Amino acid sequence: IERVLPAMTSTVDIKKADPLAPKIFRKDVCACQIQEWWPSFRPCTIKTAFIDLKEDFFEYLLQDGLVLPEGVEPVTASSGRVKSKDDYSDSDFSSSSESEQGSNPDEEQSDPNNPDDQEQATRPKFGELIDVISKAIEDLGGEVFPKLNWSAPKDATWINVGENLKCISVADVIILLKSSDFAVHDLCHAFDACADGPNESETTVSVENQRRPTKVVLALRKWFDMKTSMEFRCFVKDEFLVGISQRDCSSHYDFLLEWRSQIVSVMREFYLNTIRGRFPLKTFVFDAYIRQRDWKVFLIDFNPYGGFTQPLLFSWKELDELHESMRADDARPQGANSAD
Ligand code: ADP
Repeated sequence: IERVLPAMTSTVDIKKADPLAPKIFRKDVCACQIQEWWPSFRPCTIKTAFIDLKEDFFEYLLQDGLVLPEGVEPVTASSGRVKSKDDYSDSDFSSSSESEQGSNPDEEQSDPNNPDDQEQATRPKFGELIDVISKAIEDLGGEVFPKLNWSAPKDATWINVGENLKCISVADVIILLKSSDFAVHDLCHAFDACADGPNESETTVSVENQRRPTKVVLALRKWFDMKTSMEFRCFVKDEFLVGISQRDCSSHYDFLLEWRSQIVSVMREFYLNTIRGRFPLKTFVFDAYIRQRDWKVFLIDFNPYGGFTQPLLFSWKELDELHESMRADDARPQGANSAD
């Protein structure tokens, strides 16, 4: 209850576009889908398996309640213990298999004519998909980080016993995705902040006034332990790397100031050698991680420059001003592209 209550009673903080954020367009949002950019950046990003999700599974993710599909039993990522129904609120979760139901003499016998009992007994069947997810987890070393086209279910970590997004089973993946408003919201409202609107397009499907992409993927990324302090968000405008912000803005990391010039230098080199010219947009945001051991940079994600993307320690106005001054410097005979 302690874990469930705060999350259940808090108001869901669905992303809203900052009115001062730069305009973004549908092409920006489309280019930032992980299945679009990943193949071109495979050597410098995290190993990832892609699984196409069919409409019936996506509908299942959207449904209220947490009835796990047939053959999927919850095993937690961090403790290895089997999660029991008591870990969730009663109305939220139904994991017991049909054979288990009614086996406990203390439990009320189910009534086949009662619609509630019928619902309890009906678990969706996604046999082949479950096997594919299970195999992908195994192939990726047994621990994965799940996300859909754009977003990870970061708002649902509370439901995972490890309080993170590490999944070791199909059940972990499904429970996180079904408990998240972010991952699914981002799919149903991905184009809401676009200046060219959530219009009709061959790449999207309209369901109950929501416009979502026709192709929905589950990306399972190999679990990668990252130090939050070494995650950065980099802002690129018209091919100029204009700003680098620590990604975790809730903490002050003293040592980052000391390492500032080295961070700028490795990130600039990474941008120039690995990203520039390979991503289809000239203005965008990318998230990257610096492994402290060898200062190797790993690409984590791409985001549009504006819209729902958070500018973190910058304001969009500041970033635009930095861009203007870099452009002016660059126009001078010996100008340099600098992120300092
Ligand atoms: P979103 O697009 O929803 O913000 P990201 O892919 O950017 O999702 O990841 C969000 C956070 O999750 C990252 O800042 C990082 O801390 C963590 N993360 C991302 N990928 C992995 C991974 N493969 N293993 C472990 N943690 C990860």
